[in-house]
Amino acid sequence: MSQVNQKNSEHRLPSPVANPENKAYLEAAQKDELLVKHCNACNQAHYYPRTICPHCGSNDTTWVKSAGLGEIYSYTVMRRGVEVPFAMAYVKLQEGISMLTHLANCDFDSIRVGQKVRVVFQETQDGQKTHLFEPV
Ligand SMILES: [Zn+2]
Repeated sequence: MSQVNQKNSEHRLPSPVANPENKAYLEAAQKDELLVKHCNACNQAHYYPRTICPHCGSNDTTWVKSAGLGEIYSYTVMRRGVEVPFAMAYVKLQEGISMLTHLANCDFDSIRVGQKVRVVFQETQDGQKTHLFEPV
């Protein structure tokens, strides 16, 4: 059985599409920073970034720098019908939000639910950086 390269660095990452609500978030990623939106009215974070809080409807939301640490809530490894295998996961961040993300720098056979991960940044197919997570 042939061994395939199990690094997401070979997988061509899709590029996020900019809009007024995620502009600061995408710009921060170019500086290797992960921002999350936090609501001052209900004191909860949310993801994907929005101007209006999805929990309470308030527009009193601010950007907060994430520690970039979390754990894998759920994951899948795509091996069939793709040029290069890659892994995706729902990562639950310390800030309390979950994000769908690619996993990087890991052995696909050793990924497990509950595994601690941290944010890393890689260039997408058009050269802009986006976040991924790798095992700690
Ligand atoms: Zn809120």
